[in-house]
Amino acid sequence: MMTVSEDQKLEALTILVEECAEIIQAVSKVKRFGVDTTNADTGEKNGFALTKELADLLGVIRLAEKHGAIDPPSEEMIECAMARKQSYSSL
Ligand SMILES: [Mg+2]
Repeated sequence: MMTVSEDQKLEALTILVEECAEIIQAVSKVKRFGVDTTNADTGEKNGFALTKELADLLGVIRLAEKHGAIDPPSEEMIECAMARKQSYSSL
């Protein structure tokens, strides 16, 4: 069994926060400039940059789970969340 320190849990949570912020930034770029616009600084399309950030987020969620920093939501919880979002949106 893996030994996890409180420092590792905090580090996982900190990285989770950072990745959430990067998602916010990437979504904002897509909304402002479009999904197919290439970022002059990175040479990447905004849509691809968002996909990469989503991969980062999903990866850190798994690491945070692995290190006991978060309890993963059940499929039922995810389905309920989707239903809530659909109840007040057009999705
Ligand atoms: Mg990232």
